[in-house]
Amino acid sequence: MDNKLISGKVVSAEIKEQVKAEVAALNEQGVYPKLSVIIVGENPASMTYVKGKHKDCAECGIISENIALPETITQDELLAEIHRLNNDETVHGILVQLPLPKHIEEYAVINAISPEKDVDGFTAVNVGNMNIGKDCFAPCTPQGCIDMLDYAGVNLEGKDVVVIGRSNIVGKPVSVLALQRSATVTICHSKTKNIAEKTRMADVVIVAVGREKFLTGDMLKPGAVVIDVGINRDSNGKLCGDADFDSCIDVVSRITPVPGGVGLMTRANLLKNTVKSAKNSAK
Ligand code: NAP
Repeated sequence: MDNKLISGKVVSAEIKEQVKAEVAALNEQGVYPKLSVIIVGENPASMTYVKGKHKDCAECGIISENIALPETITQDELLAEIHRLNNDETVHGILVQLPLPKHIEEYAVINAISPEKDVDGFTAVNVGNMNIGKDCFAPCTPQGCIDMLDYAGVNLEGKDVVVIGRSNIVGKPVSVLALQRSATVTICHSKTKNIAEKTRMADVVIVAVGREKFLTGDMLKPGAVVIDVGINRDSNGKLCGDADFDSCIDVVSRITPVPGGVGLMTRANLLKNTVKSAKNSAK
């Protein structure tokens, strides 16, 4: 079984080593990569994610600052904070932890981030540049999926890839990245008829629906590769993905585990993007 797993631990550790070396080289030039993370309110899941991001930065020598703002902050006050960080030359990456409170318009806030510091890759400028294949900060989770396929030696050229999910942060961008690798991409969502018919034709299935055990082994072609983006809790509170691992494992050639899969790649790519921004600033 183990040789079928594409381990996020292994791939992300490699990325982190590269990042560490790049940070050291930048430090020698007097550049100190820095990430500012804004968190609004006290959503426990968001607080856990943010804590993980700071820990990763510390491990790689990236300076990180936490800007914790109250739930009651107005949109204008939040925008002012982002403008301040946009103008702070010591800051290379700005991340606003989502979700935001309901009275704040997410789109306006995200797009206030300078595209040069948008290490999450969520601004309209970065999304646009990614779509036309220009240099950009690729969003961390979709890029993480592609990194895992690269690591596993899965060449997407000419492959049939089915993406289940069409969110702006996972499904759509990962479809674009796969298309850029010359895959033939089918995107499924909640209105798609007979998803299993489509997944059974796929060489690679990338599943990002947010539903436990959504993708089962009988929906796959023998030898298919599965990238499981989902992060769910099962009835026992145990972390699990969108793929039903037990029924998929005998059918697939490779599969990513949850936990220990794509989630770690998301974290690693945030570091990679922050260093990229610091490098750009030093040019
Ligand atoms: P999302 O915004 O809720 O989108 C879910 C997508 O799945 C939507 O496009 C939805 O279709 C589709 N969908 C839902 N039910 C479906 C069904 N029965 N049949 C077919 N399609 C269905 O979720 P997301 O933000 O993309 O996240 C997806 C999963 O990935 C979640 O488990 C999330 O926790 C996880 N995630 C993990 C990472 C990571 O680092 N590993 C990062 C981000 C997200 P419609 O558009 O038609 O509604």
